[in-house]
Amino acid sequence: EIALQLTGIEKVYNRDTPGEIRVLRGIDLTLSAGEAVALVAPSGAGKSTLLHIAGLLDQPDTGEVRIGGEAVQHLNDARRTAIRRADVGFVYQFHHLLPEFTALENVVLPQLANGTASSSARGRALSLLDSVGIKPRADHRPAALSGGEQQRVAFCRALANRPRVLLADEPTGNLDPDTSDRVFGALMDLVRQTGLAALVATHNMELAARMDRVLRLENGQLVSG
Ligand code: ADP
Ligand code: ADP
Repeated sequence: EIALQLTGIEKVYNRDTPGEIRVLRGIDLTLSAGEAVALVAPSGAGKSTLLHIAGLLDQPDTGEVRIGGEAVQHLNDARRTAIRRADVGFVYQFHHLLPEFTALENVVLPQLANGTASSSARGRALSLLDSVGIKPRADHRPAALSGGEQQRVAFCRALANRPRVLLADEPTGNLDPDTSDRVFGALMDLVRQTGLAALVATHNMELAARMDRVLRLENGQLVSG
């Protein structure tokens, strides 16, 4: 089962100006359900552009994006946003939690926005927080949590709506090695057990090696290895 498919993706910035940059030059990527793929890219290689296109936050100039088999190119903005909310989770190195809400609420709210009943949203949130070891911190606001704890909440939030696809950009970049290991382990458990497909940009070659495949973004194209 294909979770995410990118075909012939091209992206140019500043086209037809002296500053023209051809960032993506024909990206083909198929991510199956239950697969974790590492994306390794030097800074400036186009990693953010690629993740934003894959997550329907940005449009390619050429090429096709499919999520769960559905081609999204021709859809209107409202439909694309609905697919993004239901099927895509994002985690960044620096979380963007809502400061006025507790950890639990930060994981519950996206589920309510997606139409989940509040009791089941709460249960799902507590179970996710438990899986990364921060259930005891559920009622704290982000400011009362350490950076690593905040990042674990952000990870739970990204997975709250059971997305098909998780797009992660250095998700463990600001965590200490033990916490990084635990968060990565929880992610891989979800990939194996629920069929989540994960595309994880990382500079950590040890984590990359624990995923199913490693892809490098070089000169606007993906190469394996
Ligand atoms: P990465 O995440 O790998 O650092 P990005 O995808 O952010 O790379 O950017 C790739 C290249 O495209 C960089 O040279 C960056 O300066 C350029 N770039 C990114 N976004 C824009 C934009 N909106 N307009 C013009 N150039 C951009
Ligand atoms: P919400 O449901 O809170 O309105 P959106 O549908 O706007 O959120 O966005 C869904 C996901 O996309 C969120 O996880 C958010 O982190 C991410 N996101 C939205 N806009 C951007 C952006 N401009 N850059 C990076 N990530 C974004």
